[in-house]
Order: sequence, then C-alpha cells, then structure tokens
Amino acid sequence: MQFTDLGIDTRLETQLAHQGITQPTDIQAHAVPTALAGHDIFAQSKTGSGKTLAFLLPAVQRVMKQKALSKRDPRVLIVAPTRELATQVFTQLRLLIAGTAIKAVKILGGENFNDQIKALRNDPQFVVATPGRLADHITKRSLQLSGLELLIFDEADRILDLGFTEQLKMINEQANHRLRQTLLFSATLDHAQVDALSRNLLKKPKQITLSAANEQHSDIKQTLYLADHLDHKEALLEHFLNQDDVGQCIIFTATRADTSRLSEALNAKGFKSVALAGDLTQNKRLDIMDSFSRENFKILITTDVASRGLDLLSVTHVINFDLPKHAEEYVHRIGRTGRAGFKGNAISLVGPKDWASYLAIKAFLNDELKFASIESLKAKFKGLKEKKPEAAWDKSKEKAAAVKKPAFKRKAKPKKPTAPIKAPMNIDGDTPMRRKKKPEQE
Ligand code: AMP
Repeated sequence: MQFTDLGIDTRLETQLAHQGITQPTDIQAHAVPTALAGHDIFAQSKTGSGKTLAFLLPAVQRVMKQKALSKRDPRVLIVAPTRELATQVFTQLRLLIAGTAIKAVKILGGENFNDQIKALRNDPQFVVATPGRLADHITKRSLQLSGLELLIFDEADRILDLGFTEQLKMINEQANHRLRQTLLFSATLDHAQVDALSRNLLKKPKQITLSAANEQHSDIKQTLYLADHLDHKEALLEHFLNQDDVGQCIIFTATRADTSRLSEALNAKGFKSVALAGDLTQNKRLDIMDSFSRENFKILITTDVASRGLDLLSVTHVINFDLPKHAEEYVHRIGRTGRAGFKGNAISLVGPKDWASYLAIKAFLNDELKFASIESLKAKFKGLKEKKPEAAWDKSKEKAAAVKKPAFKRKAKPKKPTAPIKAPMNIDGDTPMRRKKKPEQE
C-alpha cells in the first residue's frame, strides 16, 4: 500500500520518500483516511508505531488543500504531554511542511513567554504545545482558538496522568465549535480519565485499536537481571555497557538526582555519558537531546519525563537501572529502542526495591518476563515472597494463590510480608534509590 492510496497528496508522499518512508504503518493506514474523511478519532497506538505521522499527514494535507475558517487563528493545535515529545512532533512537522508557505510554532513551558507571543502574532497555521504553557497563553489572550479546525491530543493518557485535566478543559472550551475535528491518541484507551475525556471532547469518534499498550514489542529483546543493591546494579551496568553490541544507550533511573550521580560514576569509569538532570534549563535539555541524537555521546541517563519524545534509531539498548513505578511507563521506556523495524534490547535491573514494580509490569504484560544472570555477577537476592492473603480473603482464591507459586523463593524464612514501595515520591513520581541494604534484602 502507498500513501497515495490513503488519499495523501503526491507532494507529501515525495516528502516522505526523501525521509525513506514509503509504506504506511498500520496506524497510518487506518487513521489517515478516517481523519481525511473528517471523523473524530479515538486511537490506541503503541509507541514507535508511526502515530505521529498518522495525525500529521491528514493535518498538513487539510491545511494545504482546504480553505481556512479563520485567517488569524491557528488551524491545527497539537497538544503533547512533555516538551521532549512536543519537540519531536514539531521536528516531524517541519520536515513535512518544508518548502511550503505553512507556518508552525512550538509553545513549550520553560521557554521565553514574550518570544512565544511574537511567534503567535505571526499567524501560524500550526501550533504544537505542552498543555500548561498553552493554557497560560489562552488566559493571557495571546492565543485565540475560535478558528481552530483540528485539535489533536498526542499521548492523552500521559497528559492526564501529569495532571493537566483543567488545562484540557480550557483548551476544549476555547475551541468549542461544531466544525472542529478532534483526534485523540493514547497509549491506552483502558483508562477512566481518557475515557471521560473522549466522551467530552469527541463527536461520534471512530475508534482505532490496533495494538494494545501491553502487547510485546517483537523487535525488542527484554531481559531482567536480579540485583542485590546499588553497587551490584552499577557492576551489572558496567558489564552491559562494555558489550560490543551496545550502540547508543538510554539508562533510566528512579529520580533526577540519580541521573547526575550515575552519570558522574560512569564518566569516572571512562564511559561518555550525559544526564538529563532536573535543574537544567529548557535550552540545555534540548541541547543535550540534540547532541545525543547527533551521536556525540553514547549514553543518556534520564527519568520517565524525558522518555516519550526520544525517537532515535541508533538507540540499541534501554537499561532500566530502576524499574518504573507505573507498568505502562515500562512499555514507553523500552519503546525508545527497536524503533521503526530496528532490533533493540531492553535490560532491567531488579533489586528488592523494584520487586513491586516488577510484579506490576509482569501482570500488565500478561507475560512471564525472562530473567538471566551473569555468572560472575549473580545476585543473592531471589525475589520477594508474595504478600500473605488478607483476613477477609476468599478461601478459594487462597487455594488458587497457593498453587500459583511465586517465580522466586527465598531460602531463609522471611520476617514479614513484602511491603509496597512507600518511599517518599520525588518530582517524577518515583521512589528514590537507596544505597543502604535492608536486613531483609540479604
Ligand atoms: P512514532 O510512533 O510516531 O514515534 O514514529 C516512530 C518512528 O517511525 C519515527 O522515527 C518515524 O519517522 C518512523 N516512521 C513513521 N512512519 C513510518 C513509516 N511509514 N515507515 C517507516 N518509518 C516510519
């Protein structure tokens, strides 16, 4: 199938061919004609599926071919959860509109507000934005949305998880007219808030569900390694980074402070790594991302916040130094490798503090994730025992639970049942890493 078969203009198809993109992906094959026909869309799309072009292509085509409702207001607004993802969308958009008279601006938090006002006065047809700053511009009246034709939410589940519900309501109200078309993309549709949002925002939407967020990425080899403590994790990490097949690598840690600490430790050992630490300015963050994408350094250490927008084909390995607290985040993290048909490796280090997350991810993926070990770096830790059933527990369930043994059993008798992670939350919503061993981790 060709892009023209989907109703895409030959100019856009040529533009895609310059980027080596000739065949539509599944999500594109379904979403593009549906959007071109003017329907609202409620789409589930996994990371790396080509979802960005699935909404950009019909949007650009509309602006190229159809008369505008308003000469001044933006015609297409794309809202993305993080600056990194918005930047990624903007970059793809710029490639598509290169050589046309179409204007696009990027409105991100952390950047100069007045510069953004000036850019908006230039009457761009496209605005790509993060929700917080976008709402600020609406409040200050530097952005009017009454002529908006197409409203697109990328990774709506993530936008809501980040707490932008009020901002979304405001955006919706500002652009609330019957001619508006709305496309909502989400990693999962099975999300109460996303469901409520879709009912508020979408008119008779066509639902597109191609691959569930918990579907395995066939191009990504996932392996887990048990680790006793922080020093053990670092030794394992060093082992993996020394392997020949490692091209570029993204390492995820639980907190932003850990990114800097780990980067210093790796650099001291002669690895070339950079941390996307929390105290960086937006420009510095973008510089680092840009430099990484030009392969100026091999290792990027980051937290979940940056995990969405990174779209780099040279990333051969994702290493979860700490497992994410939310199971869906695991899918997003590992989706930074194995992009666009390339093979990738996802390595996760699982210590006692990661055990609850491991169980959640295992359940979410409906799959027994595979553990491996390095002979010289074997862990003493073998996993934590399942929680004792509660008093009101149904007897039949108790029986079933007893039959289904946990994947790992400790030799020593455990002192008490595993407690869920209760460490204080940091800014990224994760539990900080601890160096000190707890007695029960031995
Ligand atoms: P996305 O899921 O939008 O983040 O896209 C993932 C990657 O796939 C990006 O590098 C895109 O440039 C690339 N891509 C998107 N559509 C196609 C396609 N039809 N053929 C090959 N690569 C694509």
